[in-house]
Amino acid sequence: MGALFYKDEMKQFLDIIQRLSRTSDEVLLNVRQAIACVEDIIHIGKVTIDLSVPQTKLRAQVQNFSSVLFLKEGVYGYQPVAHSFRTGDGGTVVITFYAMDGYLWDEEELSEIKILSNLIFCAFRIENMNSLLDKAVTTDLSVDMPNVSGFMRFATEKFARGLLEEYIGVYFNIHNFKYVNNILPYIKADEVMGMYVNMLKKAISSEEIVARLGGDNFVALINVENIERFIAYISNINIVYQNEEDEKKFNFNATIGASKLKDISRIGEVMHRISIAYQVARQQESTEVVYYKDEYYKDVAKQKEIIAGFQRGLEQQEFVVHYQPKVMAKDKTICGGEALVRWKRQGALVYPIDFIPILERDGSICKLDFYVLDKACSLLEDCMKNGLDLPRISINFSRKHIGNPFLVKEIVKIIDRHKVPHEYVEIELTESEDFRDYIVMAKLIEALKAEGISTSIDDFGTGYSSLNMLKMTSIDILKIDKSFIPLKEECDNKKKECIMFENIAHLAKELGVMVVAEGVETESQYEYLKQMGCDIIQGYYFDKPLTPEEFVEKVKMVTY
Ligand code: C2E
Ligand code: MG
Ligand code: MG
Repeated sequence: MGALFYKDEMKQFLDIIQRLSRTSDEVLLNVRQAIACVEDIIHIGKVTIDLSVPQTKLRAQVQNFSSVLFLKEGVYGYQPVAHSFRTGDGGTVVITFYAMDGYLWDEEELSEIKILSNLIFCAFRIENMNSLLDKAVTTDLSVDMPNVSGFMRFATEKFARGLLEEYIGVYFNIHNFKYVNNILPYIKADEVMGMYVNMLKKAISSEEIVARLGGDNFVALINVENIERFIAYISNINIVYQNEEDEKKFNFNATIGASKLKDISRIGEVMHRISIAYQVARQQESTEVVYYKDEYYKDVAKQKEIIAGFQRGLEQQEFVVHYQPKVMAKDKTICGGEALVRWKRQGALVYPIDFIPILERDGSICKLDFYVLDKACSLLEDCMKNGLDLPRISINFSRKHIGNPFLVKEIVKIIDRHKVPHEYVEIELTESEDFRDYIVMAKLIEALKAEGISTSIDDFGTGYSSLNMLKMTSIDILKIDKSFIPLKEECDNKKKECIMFENIAHLAKELGVMVVAEGVETESQYEYLKQMGCDIIQGYYFDKPLTPEEFVEKVKMVTY
């Protein structure tokens, strides 16, 4: 009797119970097999387990189960011996051994049973710890939703089973969650996020996944047949948040990129495709889903390359500034020049269209604008030193500067560094889509004016509300966009283009604002514009943007 621990059967018991198990079902299976190895030696009739673990942050639900771990055929169980254990997170596990009918365990066997119970408990505890650890790694615990690791695990599992093609990958960002953060304190905004997450969880089946990447970014794998419904759902989520004082209603839309998951050769491609589709959706400010295309990859790669090369380009002085003359309509004298930047990259001259929109999105454009202002002031300074009086130079300043409270100070600092009188500099601003910006812009224009620096509105007419711009700001100069400059035949036939241009020019005159026509290419356009009272002409008709040396030579020539 006894001496179980010296027997081969006990060795087998230990081997089996120590097997790695990932789920509680796997532990149950192992424990059953392990007990079967020693049941004869120690006369076991039945073994049960009762588990009761409370809800915790890591465990969404209370875990309660009772299970028969072992039952010898035709046996009821006799002389129960129960051992109770505490789990680290406040739960209890009771393991009860029953002897075979009529058998009485002696002292030594009872202590062996105690050790077996301990080993069984350890097996469950290890599994429990593993699963909690696993949950911690794969879950965003602040909202109890899978995180990127959880998402990748799900995707990898579908990929391994060849099921990925049945899914559409989705990457989305809540549109305007920023607004919630603006009007509610953070703790409350987190609650709204929790409500949003719960609504997302309701929108998917058990064979789908939605995961939070962080902030208000999410990814999902949705069955092909459910995708339209899911997209419609996340495009219109309504949340009513009950505050102490009042009720806040939110309607959330989303910026959405998606991709079919055919021909995926490595799992990393899933995230790669959907994040590119999302970036394109964001750039296009699309209200529709943007589906991944291979060419998007090239676009995004090119953009990344531009952003990555920008700082170096600036340091290496790869950016050069060209100047396009502005000419007085009445007598064709040169009265100004517009500074237009180009990027000398790998021996080629790259034009603004290929890098300015990218730098604008990235925000680096602001640095470039100051750089161009510095170059223009440096040219003005050099010419003044050499006794040549250059006309006023205008510099394009991106809308991205709006909101920089030190903008005027920084502009003035650069101009003063070159000892250039302020009236030699003009700042070109474009209209904004955001109404609130007009107030800031009006203040900015006033502040520049107070420093003796004039401002012009570039591309006038193409913005969101050009008339508001005129009404709300004390602008000095309007540069009417090329698209509003009529062609000859349009003027002859008094087409809509002509009527619009004439009225814009008339309105500006009445308000005492100077009118510049951009993109003037022909003699007849010039004649027409002069007749319409347009003050200044800029365009290929006179000159394309010139190198600084060419521009200086043109200025010396004085008139065209
Ligand atoms: P913009 O400020 O409206 O500049 C006028 C653009 O029209 C220039 O293009 C100029 O070369 C082009 N242009 C001039 N005359 C004619 C013409 O007769 N016909 C036609 N079809 N086009 C003409 P560019 O140099 O390619 O610049 C494009 C835009 O890039 C500029 O439009 C401006 O918005 C932006 N940009 C250029 N340099 C800077 C800069 O330093 N900072 C910022 N923020 N933007 C810049
Ligand atoms: Mg301009
Ligand atoms: Mg323009």
